[in-house]
Amino acid sequence: MTQNPPSKPALKLRRLQEVALKGKRALVRVDYNVPIRDGVVEDDARVRETLPTLRHLIDNGAKIVLICHLGRPKGKPDPKYSVKPVAASLEKLLGRPVAFAQDCAGAAAEKAAAALKPGEVLLCENLRFHAGEEANDPAFAKALSRLGDVFVQDAFGALHRAHASTAGLPKLLPGSIGLLVQKELEFLDRVIGNPARPFLSIVGGAKVSDKLGVLNRLLDRVDALLIGGGMAYTFLAAQGISIGRSLLEKEKVRQAQGIVEKAYAKKVECLLPADHVCVREIKPEAETVVTPAMAIPEDLIGVDIGPHTIEFFVEQIEKAKTIFWNGPMGIFEMPAFSAGSFAVAKALAKATKAGSTTIVGGGDSLAVLAKTGLAGEMSHCSTGGGASLELLEGKPLPGLTALAA
Ligand code: AMP
Repeated sequence: MTQNPPSKPALKLRRLQEVALKGKRALVRVDYNVPIRDGVVEDDARVRETLPTLRHLIDNGAKIVLICHLGRPKGKPDPKYSVKPVAASLEKLLGRPVAFAQDCAGAAAEKAAAALKPGEVLLCENLRFHAGEEANDPAFAKALSRLGDVFVQDAFGALHRAHASTAGLPKLLPGSIGLLVQKELEFLDRVIGNPARPFLSIVGGAKVSDKLGVLNRLLDRVDALLIGGGMAYTFLAAQGISIGRSLLEKEKVRQAQGIVEKAYAKKVECLLPADHVCVREIKPEAETVVTPAMAIPEDLIGVDIGPHTIEFFVEQIEKAKTIFWNGPMGIFEMPAFSAGSFAVAKALAKATKAGSTTIVGGGDSLAVLAKTGLAGEMSHCSTGGGASLELLEGKPLPGLTALAA
């Protein structure tokens, strides 16, 4: 079986439990990038995930100032991207008032932060209303730092960005990771560090280019790799198998072939879809054709893994002791093409019950879990797809290196 390559020395990060908080203004970077419709938060999962940190701060007598981003407002105020609705959502979850500051920097925000009493909470408007956030402008980081005495990084999903609130701010205030970031790191460490074996990874989604790095890295660690979703067709094309009109990243065919060769050399079982659900046109009500084998006829487009592939994939899941899943097996947003992704979700839920460690990352895989109602049945659902992939790839995360420095 695969031996883990030696892992890099871990960053020395201060944990929230080690920070003296009484009477201090804790400036907390959170990930409240949530869907909002008509002024109401549609899915409060990300807000809920921050509750342990917030409760810890309240219980320890801190004054809480929350900073976050929402969407891509391009560096200037845009009411469409206001985080104000999150204050109402948080109020409900926390069961206490949450004040709102119309701007995350400047005199008014500073005054509101200074007026807080222990246990009180202030949510500040979208960081990205300032161009300085994404530019990691030191002057903007400095302005933010005036809102707190200590900094708490709890935005796992933003750690891979070198922005003012992630990479600049930790250099200006004594900082620690929050309880959510701590939990995320502990789970991913199990995968990176010393996973129970066999260790299986299931990777899907549309884009090969986004995942080549992580696939390469995963091959050094896993015992088996399952590739599904739109990205699988580039791998099949690399094997000289016809893929009809399915998704293809032509310029990535050679690298895909490299992954398959590396898997072979390392004796990692690398499974590609053996049959497919296909359509002539991608639309929800399109008539579906299931191919009898790997090859896809010229006029068809693969939109989901087929029933035999589901069987093989489920068998692999049943054998594994650690399973990491990122990316759907098909265009799951359309019910007719969701069977593959749903079957993986169900098999993972069963595996968790049987004692395996299951870790799911990435917005689309989480959406599959939400649709199947199985989110609670995984060992861990990562709140940051990009950040978890970059961690697995072994890339330094700016938000963590800044904190450790
Ligand atoms: P990614 O952002 O690369 O993880 O891709 C996620 C997207 O991949 C989802 O929106 C799926 O609809 C899409 N996807 C999965 N399978 C296919 C497929 N066979 N053809 C086209 N898109 C797909």
